[in-house]
Amino acid sequence: MANLGILSNTLKVLEKYNFNFQKKFGQNFLIDTHILEGIIKGAGITEDDCVLEIGPGIGTMTQYLCEAARFVIAVEIDKNLIPILSDTLSEYDNKIVLNEDVLKVNINELCDKYNEGRPIKVVANLPYYITTPIIMGLFESHVPLESITVMVQKEVAERMQVGPGTKDYGALSLAVQFYSKPEVIMNVSAGCFIPRPNVDSAVIKLTAHTKNPVSVRNEAFMFNIIRAAFNQRRKTLANALANGGINVTREDVYEALSEMSLSATVRGEALTLEQFARLSDLLCRS
Ligand code: SAM
Repeated sequence: MANLGILSNTLKVLEKYNFNFQKKFGQNFLIDTHILEGIIKGAGITEDDCVLEIGPGIGTMTQYLCEAARFVIAVEIDKNLIPILSDTLSEYDNKIVLNEDVLKVNINELCDKYNEGRPIKVVANLPYYITTPIIMGLFESHVPLESITVMVQKEVAERMQVGPGTKDYGALSLAVQFYSKPEVIMNVSAGCFIPRPNVDSAVIKLTAHTKNPVSVRNEAFMFNIIRAAFNQRRKTLANALANGGINVTREDVYEALSEMSLSATVRGEALTLEQFARLSDLLCRS
């Protein structure tokens, strides 16, 4: 099959199958061979790797991944793309295409089945409407991961890298930085996709930490605190947590903040990852 990174080849496939783009699935297909090569190189894919690709589309990046990796697991929600993928990927036997919603599939089971539970690499040109749940889900379900290399909206890539005191700082920044080291590999303009998205994009690589940068007794509880803090980011931390459905009182939070020498009126957006970990340890009753 011809290289789908070349626009004319993609157009032929779309025409052959009379394919209609589905906006609700965030379908913007890559049509730039330099970007595709850059993603494979940036992700550091080798012939030992098992790669999970989220949303293969018509198989453009999947072709590159199948050439470079030992095995590729591609999870695509749109059933109309499945017959197209069996055509465009027909020459590769080192792949499996699953017609599933990635948010519902058990990725730990896939890792066990196709990589004997060893760490996988995730590579994707993500559907932008669910970038955050996909990334948080991969980290929080403790999928064995070496790295996640993904195309995201440029602003989202920025959000993943910023620290306290900036308007973009939030639950995503803290989760990404707790579990990984983020690094932008390249910026990608809207013209590299068909159809053109309304936003600019960036490829970011999240290399999983071998050891988390801070220690915390109950990781899940810490992320409940973080989510509650940023769900109501205009409120003081004490008010946000007391109304955040996490079973702590305003007085509990005041006491913990005082122990940490922080003001009773501090907002969540001022706290570092280390401070959220300490707060979590102070508030956690289990
Ligand atoms: N990888 C292709 C490329 O780079 O040209 C397509 C990328 S496109 C931005 C996102 C893809 O994710 C689409 O094929 C879309 O149908 C698929 N997708 C959207 N939501 C999904 C979900 N919940 N689970 C799996 N795939 C999904």
